[in-house]
Amino acid sequence: MKKIALLGSTGSIGVQVLGVVSRYPELFSIVSLSAGSNAELFREQVKAFRPKVATLKDASAFSRVKENLPTTTTYAVGEDSVLSAIVEEADIVVVAVVGFAGLQCVLKAIEMGKPIALANKESLCCGGELVTRLAKEKNVPIYPVDSEHSAIWQCLDFDKTRECVSLTLTASGGPFWRLTKEEIAGVTKAQALKHPTWNMGAKITIDSATLANKGLEVMEARYLFDIPEDRIEVVIHPESIVHSAVNFADGVTMAQMSYPNMEIPIQLALTAPSRIPTTVKKLDLATLSQLTFYPVPEEKFPCFHLARQALKAGGVLPCAYSVANEAAVFAFLREEIRFSQIPYYISLAMDKISNERADTYQTLLSVKTEAERIVTAAIRGQLCK
Ligand code: NDP
Ligand code: MG
Repeated sequence: MKKIALLGSTGSIGVQVLGVVSRYPELFSIVSLSAGSNAELFREQVKAFRPKVATLKDASAFSRVKENLPTTTTYAVGEDSVLSAIVEEADIVVVAVVGFAGLQCVLKAIEMGKPIALANKESLCCGGELVTRLAKEKNVPIYPVDSEHSAIWQCLDFDKTRECVSLTLTASGGPFWRLTKEEIAGVTKAQALKHPTWNMGAKITIDSATLANKGLEVMEARYLFDIPEDRIEVVIHPESIVHSAVNFADGVTMAQMSYPNMEIPIQLALTAPSRIPTTVKKLDLATLSQLTFYPVPEEKFPCFHLARQALKAGGVLPCAYSVANEAAVFAFLREEIRFSQIPYYISLAMDKISNERADTYQTLLSVKTEAERIVTAAIRGQLCK
């Protein structure tokens, strides 16, 4: 029986993790869970899974439901309450919160020597060097949940250190990759939130539409598999059947294929190297009429290009990129800025923040504060005009 600490239980990934746990109650249990502000779903989850510890970030949302919560669970509430959900009893910590908040969860799990199933990509983008160094020192494994990285891990036979020549990440392209630059400039929030092949949380759905998600995934791959940026290729694959590939020295490319469903990588992060059934049906190759691949039209997706630039520069710039993107995406979701303005705010933060080594959490936290301040001030300035 594997005891899971689940951080981000009410989100798209979190709910699917609970689905896996429900299907295999003899293999998994939830020892703790943590959410942000969706108090009603949080309450239902606590009632259903009876964790030892449950935490909610939003104190006023917690007060709405607290009368109706099981008394056998211990609760923590407030900004950093998520960290109290990383309990000693856990065998694995699933980090499925969104954004920079994931970084301190990952660092705490490493400090406590807990294996990590990592969905939160921003933690590696912001603190890749620090996280991988500390994980190595503490001998803490990080299992990828992101489908592309899971695919690569599978092609490497679950050995992240296996020699290869390069990685090929696939991207669905999101809803806009066939549009012209001018058409992309005019897209609405509703259009951007409609992903053609995946059903995900709001931030990653917007990131997929700008292709920032693929930029963040290049960063994630760089640190997870300890491979230089120039050996990570990206291709558009609109069918989302090939989830990524590894290229070996002898000319062989190994790819992982399945229908697009996060249940597979989520479950595998909990069971690898064993494979057990999921609800996803076997791929029927005869009915797949075609699989297509295209180069990324980088000129239409500045967020993708900026991510590569940030990663090449290294230091704190990937963190500045990730945080500025996060701030701009949430401003877009609040309809304060246009879709096409997201890359402008990212490059503004990247230009204004002076680069330095990213070797402490404190440094990354101050870069986060500064990048947010730059983006917020620029948006406010524009809104006042
Ligand atoms: P969602 O927005 O759907 O969910 C985010 C979750 O995190 C929610 O449960 C939210 O709570 C919770 N949360 C946010 N901040 C905090 C905090 N400070 N403390 C505690 N809980 C918090 O996101 P997704 O599930 O889509 O994505 C999660 C992560 O996984 C992201 O980093 C994303 O990039 C990555 N990922 C997601 C994929 C997907 O298919 N969705 C695929 C690959 C990677 P609440 O809702 O209650 O406020
Ligand atoms: Mg992905």
